[in-house]
Amino acid sequence: MTLIPVADPGAQNQLMSRSLQEVFAKVIASGNYILGPELEALEIEFARFIGTSFSVGVASGTDAITLTLKGLGVGAGDEVITASHTAVATVAGIELAGATPVLVDIDPRFYTITPLAIRKAITSRTAAVMPVHLYGQSAEMTEIVGLCEQFNLKLVEDVSQAHGATWAGRRLGSIGSAGCFSCYPTKNFSAIGDAGLITTNNAELVKRIRAIRQYGWTERNYSEIPGMNSRLDEVQAAILRVKLSYLDSLNERRQEIAKMYLNGILRTDIVLPEIRENGSHVYHLFVLNVNERDQFREKMLNFGVSTAVHYPRPVHQQPAYSGRLKLPVAGLPVTDELSNRIVSIPIFPEMSNDMVERVIDAVNSSIGV
Ligand SMILES: *Cc1c(COP(=O)(O)O)cnc(C)c1O
Repeated sequence: MTLIPVADPGAQNQLMSRSLQEVFAKVIASGNYILGPELEALEIEFARFIGTSFSVGVASGTDAITLTLKGLGVGAGDEVITASHTAVATVAGIELAGATPVLVDIDPRFYTITPLAIRKAITSRTAAVMPVHLYGQSAEMTEIVGLCEQFNLKLVEDVSQAHGATWAGRRLGSIGSAGCFSCYPTKNFSAIGDAGLITTNNAELVKRIRAIRQYGWTERNYSEIPGMNSRLDEVQAAILRVKLSYLDSLNERRQEIAKMYLNGILRTDIVLPEIRENGSHVYHLFVLNVNERDQFREKMLNFGVSTAVHYPRPVHQQPAYSGRLKLPVAGLPVTDELSNRIVSIPIFPEMSNDMVERVIDAVNSSIGV
């Protein structure tokens, strides 16, 4: 019995191998490997896909966060409100910009930060709010947009797990001041290596980010502001252009698999993902809320199904951060509890219906075995 993985980026790249090899060969032959025509085209195409005026390619999702905050002028002395229940990269990206992360609790049904928790964390130092659209669906954006307008805060979306998902008919990444995307190989929209993208309607911000990503250059050998190196190379840009044309259909396949799970998993002791009324879910991950997680995972493994935990240790409990980040006085009880109960089961567009059935059978049978 072959083990079903939680994600399988190799399967997708195998299926697209011909087109990927073609563009790879084209880039090699071009002699132009950095900030060339592939990236220029990708930036136009991705902005059009998300529904913003601009997009900018950078080296990773972490860098997308750092460069966006730097470009917005959010840095030393500024607080950025975000989740602890997220990839450590969210918080790392904020600190790399020189800003101070302020972590707040999440909604137990949707796993994203709540407007009320944000409201309570706002101080005179708050400069930005960074909701993380976790697992494939949006945070409660209508109220968060309202709060940011009321308190004159920048709104930077972490969209690394929700490429293509919508809120009130708009793609995530087009709602705030900017959207930050990772294209790490397991994400819904993925490179064959590291890559990141930023979306925005702010032309001034785009200018600054384009300068920061290459030594602060506004023209060759002229550094107008302090910069760094965070470029998205031509090979990854060309690969992402191929994949962008499939993104909606790949997300639809994820939704089909999710529907099979939602209909097929019959256990009343397991909480299934809930979909917000106002948005679409692109199921970057399919996360269950279970009792006795270790036992559940062991039983699933016995049935040949891998599972994972996103994330077992919230950022405020990581050694690098614990004890020194700003948290609510009451702590983060929902985050703490859920991090002990959540478990991700396999979901990726290339899963066959047979594989999906095997996972469903395993979940339904793993009770009391
Ligand atoms: C993957 C991810 C990132 C970081 O992406 P990298 O490309 O690995 O730097 C940031 N935030 C979230 C929510 C992610 O899932």
